[in-house]
Amino acid sequence: MGRNVFITGATSGIGRETAIAFAKNGDNLLLCARRKDKLDEMKQGLEDLYKVDVTVFELDVTDRAAVAEKVPAMIESIDHVDILVNNAGLAQGLDAFEDSSIDDMETMIDTNVKGLLYVSRTVLPYMLKRNIGHIINLGSTAGIYAYAKGAVYCATKAAVKTLSDGIRIDTIESDIKVTTIQPGIVETPFSEVRFHGDKEKAAAVYAGVDALQPEDIADIILFASNRPRRVQISDITIMANQQA
Ligand code: NDP
Repeated sequence: MGRNVFITGATSGIGRETAIAFAKNGDNLLLCARRKDKLDEMKQGLEDLYKVDVTVFELDVTDRAAVAEKVPAMIESIDHVDILVNNAGLAQGLDAFEDSSIDDMETMIDTNVKGLLYVSRTVLPYMLKRNIGHIINLGSTAGIYAYAKGAVYCATKAAVKTLSDGIRIDTIESDIKVTTIQPGIVETPFSEVRFHGDKEKAAAVYAGVDALQPEDIADIILFASNRPRRVQISDITIMANQQA
């Protein structure tokens, strides 16, 4: 379809599968994350397979100055962005609140909330200039139903939903759409990051559950992006079949 799709956190899990889904759909990609080597591999693979344009750049979304400097330059290099997928995010630690590390709490807030704000605040004026665009934010069922040992992560994802609604209201007079995608349990490296690389703890999260796969979420993101101009999906919640 030849749209320009900007995905944050494209090196792994949901972001990576979303990049593949849009490339298969014929869309061009602007991809960022912190691991440039993985982005370079993706660029080569996706361009070869799907004959789309893939532009990649290293970006830590928590680095406000880097977002302000790099994102405008990258957008201008590809002309415009039709769709922004704010996917970069993580859970870290997740202990009972009284035992949690304040560093972990800050990392989650800086990445899931402030990173999303820096990127959205930078991209939105470019969309408004063309009076059209779609921002798709990765929330979570964690933002709807708080769970034990997840207070701060859950709060960041509730914030994503509220921010999405607020941006939608503030851009109501334009053709900007804002969608929150709220997945349940998805099997990705997310759990390894959450437990600081402890593979055993990470694997235990998915034991006995037929977890969602990242391509299930990519499919839904692509679906939301492919609705007619008059249709705006505010939010979609996707649970694993056996998830309570
Ligand atoms: P992964 O750990 O597989 O992927 C996370 C991605 O985010 C990576 O590409 C990582 O890239 C990137 N990232 C992390 N921090 C930063 C940063 N500071 N700057 C730029 N990129 C960053 O996790 P998932 O694919 O599972 O998660 C994707 C999103 O989906 C997150 O927002 C998560 O909260 C949400 N989600 C996940 C669920 C799950 O069960 N897995 C359920 C519900 C929502 P790099 O390390 O290269 O920077």
